Amino acid sequence: MDHQFRMLIDGDLVEGASTFDVVNPATAASFAQCPKADAALIDRAVAAAKHAFPAWAARPIEERAGMVDALADKLEARAAEFASLLTSEQGKPLDQAMYEVMGSVFTLRAFAAMRLEPTTLRSEGGNTVIEHRTPLGVVAAITPWNFPIILVMNKMGPALVTGNTMVIKPAPTTPLTTLLLGEICAEVLPAGVVNVVCDQNDLGHLLTGHKDVAKVAFTGSTATGKKVMAAAAAGVKRVTLELGGNDAAIVLDDVDAKFAAQKVYGSAMANAGQICVATKRAYVHETMYEEFCTEIAKLAQAAIVDDGSKQGTTVGPVQNKMQFDKVTALLDDARTRGTVIAGGEPIDRPGFFIAPTIVRDLDDDAPLVREEQFGPVLPVLKYSDIEDVIARANDSEMGLGGTVWGKDLARATAVAMQIDTGTVWVNQYLAIDANIPFRGAKQSGLGGELGISGLHEYTQAHIVNAIELADA
Ligand code: NAD
Repeated sequence: MDHQFRMLIDGDLVEGASTFDVVNPATAASFAQCPKADAALIDRAVAAAKHAFPAWAARPIEERAGMVDALADKLEARAAEFASLLTSEQGKPLDQAMYEVMGSVFTLRAFAAMRLEPTTLRSEGGNTVIEHRTPLGVVAAITPWNFPIILVMNKMGPALVTGNTMVIKPAPTTPLTTLLLGEICAEVLPAGVVNVVCDQNDLGHLLTGHKDVAKVAFTGSTATGKKVMAAAAAGVKRVTLELGGNDAAIVLDDVDAKFAAQKVYGSAMANAGQICVATKRAYVHETMYEEFCTEIAKLAQAAIVDDGSKQGTTVGPVQNKMQFDKVTALLDDARTRGTVIAGGEPIDRPGFFIAPTIVRDLDDDAPLVREEQFGPVLPVLKYSDIEDVIARANDSEMGLGGTVWGKDLARATAVAMQIDTGTVWVNQYLAIDANIPFRGAKQSGLGGELGISGLHEYTQAHIVNAIELADA
């Protein structure tokens, strides 16, 4: 494509030390060049953010929030351009790309409307104790490739409103929409408040270990999250980690099998299954297991799998070759252990396409059940006893999300209460909203994002404890 992508450092759109190819997953061919930073450019970006911090933090919050609103307006005005680029680099169908862009606009506006007021903890006998929330400094925001725009916004909104400055590093297979966002930041924000740098999975440690980075806001795999946490330990940096998941869907015996199949299919196959809170294993009551399997297999067979830029595509490619190989390997293994009732193969065409796949009759210890597949392949498992299925759903090192489907809402909610994850949705899925906290339990995360508590994560408590002097 013609557009020349550049990084944002200290208010300037700059070339990299080198460039690398960005591949369209629907063709497996390079379609754009991305600038790549080196250690010196990372240092410059952090120095710019550090330099910009005092003045940015000192601005009235109304001014900072106004600029975050202005970012939202600019993003909305260019929504079609962002969505099209997102489909090209990430692969998701255009309508899902537009949904991500508009969700990002909503997220920025939601954070621009939030305030952290000082709290008076005590006011008696001349003693006043007030808790203020003060910004941390330079935030390094490191993001993955499945939602490259909105996962930046979940960090940018709260970081900027509370007075922090940022260095953002996107994933190397989806850097372009973040660079486009950098162009908008250059128009709206003072120099250095937001900086955008790119790498090829090789420079992240320079940010997480940098002495002038106060906080690392990370979304990505649990394996990388552990490295981020270890690197941050040396400087006792603040970290938030939004990591992997292995979400279970529990289908209770009083729900309509066809309805449940539609919903579980939607929650498993949106974005070709590459969602941290996608349904990654479905547990269906034995009384409806056959009907559920038949219905969900029909949906998978009816999917229109194609380039996301084509009208009518419902499932796009897997985002990159490494993930394609990982999902294909899990599928090869699952084929030998269970029964494939839809899909089951990569599609023989250029690009990283895997037919939406449903596998039944697997044991709980199959890798496709135990590991995070992060692709369009869903295991459907049978259960008979509710206590047993709750234990099976909880038998995971992950604890991100999950869903429960049932007509009797009180009963379904009682089951949801026993699922050991950060979020459980009852009779709905993916209901993520900037005003509702989102955080992972167990190895799915540390700290969290969104909601007022998400805003708190970008601040520290600053207690001023004052007492009046007695008259001399
Ligand atoms: P990843 O961990 O491979 O990469 C994430 C980011 O970390 C990339 O920008 C990468 O360049 C960077 N990185 C790599 N090595 C690093 C290091 N040593 N130090 C610092 N940064 C480093 O993850 P991915 O494959 O891009 O994304 C998929 C994963 O993300 C899945 O496990 C998914 O569940 C998870 N995810 C979680 C959430 C959530 O909110 N919990 C949301 C989306 C995705």
